[in-house]
Amino acid sequence: MAPPLVRALGLRKEHRMALTTVHALRGISLELYRGDFVAIVGPSGSGKSTLMNLLGLLDRPTEGRYFLAGQDVLELNPDQRAQVRNQRIGFVFQSFNLLARSTALENIELPLVYAGVARRERRRRAEAALASVGLGDRRDHWPGQLSGGEQQRVAIARALVNDPLLVLADEPTGALDSRTSLEVLAHLQALNEAGRTIVLVTHDPAVACHTRRVMVMRDGRAVREDVVPERRDARALLAGAEHGSDAVRRLAPVPAA
Ligand code: ADP
Ligand code: MG
Repeated sequence: MAPPLVRALGLRKEHRMALTTVHALRGISLELYRGDFVAIVGPSGSGKSTLMNLLGLLDRPTEGRYFLAGQDVLELNPDQRAQVRNQRIGFVFQSFNLLARSTALENIELPLVYAGVARRERRRRAEAALASVGLGDRRDHWPGQLSGGEQQRVAIARALVNDPLLVLADEPTGALDSRTSLEVLAHLQALNEAGRTIVLVTHDPAVACHTRRVMVMRDGRAVREDVVPERRDARALLAGAEHGSDAVRRLAPVPAA
């Protein structure tokens, strides 16, 4: 059996403040295999973003170990770590984080600029990524000329353009209405079905139902892990909505874990 794509052991993160120490993570261990689609759910302040920042090599744990595709990434120097981050991890954020003064295509090209890919190849790969999220005709639009859902699809294309091992999405539907959220979830599900490994953070159990398994966090700890029993199919829900059913309303909350 192939080794896990992600193997994190006993991750702890403390923030020493003037008067107290904040324990953002109190020991999280996690294994992800290629093709996984995991939701991390939990209330605000439970440590979800902290965990994503550690998995994405945006931050270092106070304690713990992290192997990505078998490589001990906490042993790397900052430059090597930045390189692994740029080449192997794709990020999608709640607030899209697109550059306002760059077109959709230029935004998607950016990770390839950092990776030193030649201009013509950059263009080709960015165009393919934009087409893959159904926005081939929006290449020269500024982010401000796109809807929230379209901006998030551009951000997904940007996350994919380096062909990353791991896609990390922190509340990717947090700023979107329920129909647009479903469209973004449909894209993430399609990516996962094509073999992409995805970690999605959400505080919304109805969003988590579109993944394959759910890890519940409370107060810096993983308190539960479940396989999603009846995975929702965002594309089917969207198709139902087009035929006049109330499918989109069914994105309404399901019982909390
Ligand atoms: P979530 O994403 O689940 O809402 P976070 O991971 O952002 O939670 O935060 C977990 C805890 O760590 C919270 O109590 C938060 O206030 C604290 N925290 C996060 N970042 C910092 C920081 N840079 N300094 C101090 N405390 C922090
Ligand atoms: Mg957060």
